[in-house]
Amino acid sequence: MAMVLLVEDDDDVRQALLRELRDLGHTVRSAGLALEALREVSANAPDVVVLDLGLPDLDGAEALKMLRAVSDVPVIVATARDGEQEIIRLLRSGADDYLVKPFSAGHLHARVEAVLRRARTVTRPGPLVVGALQVDAERRQARLEGTPLQLSRKEFDMLAFLARNAGRVVSRRELLTEVWQQPYGDDQTIDVHLSWLRRKLGDRAAAPRYLHTVRGVGVMLTAPE
Ligand code: CA
Repeated sequence: MAMVLLVEDDDDVRQALLRELRDLGHTVRSAGLALEALREVSANAPDVVVLDLGLPDLDGAEALKMLRAVSDVPVIVATARDGEQEIIRLLRSGADDYLVKPFSAGHLHARVEAVLRRARTVTRPGPLVVGALQVDAERRQARLEGTPLQLSRKEFDMLAFLARNAGRVVSRRELLTEVWQQPYGDDQTIDVHLSWLRRKLGDRAAAPRYLHTVRGVGVMLTAPE
């Protein structure tokens, strides 16, 4: 049984599904707005999200994108729009499955179980290793010489991207695109985050061990010599 987050603005539909999913043994929380759902996902980490695409505050595709920016939780989109193009677009934007409204709780239950089965059998890649640094993207944990690093979300994302590209100079533009998902932006934001990350790695800019700045080009993560 799973912790399900049901995102649906229609009270009648939400109450009916809540009741039936609970009867089937799931723990269910619900939200009527996309922004509420985003808060809920960050605060309570559900096993699966059922996302209605017709919400009053955000377009469904937009809500999915924002959700994907904060979590890898499996998402089943529920849509009245059954056009093939729309479904393809949503599956490409990170949805794991979809349901066309109206659907029964039994049908939803079966989809939830299928999505969870897939999520559980996905093999976890091992952590990336750079010298004495370990970066586990699945668990969102980084360790240096065995000691967990306390990193903010952006610091972690940046470190994970640098670790995937260890030994290669990564430009600020790439960090903006890959970590901030913005093609344009302020280099200063990057520099500030890099300096925080450097400090947490116990590096000094003057004598770096892991994080090397290549002036005018970018930054590179490497194992110390
Ligand atoms: Ca709706």
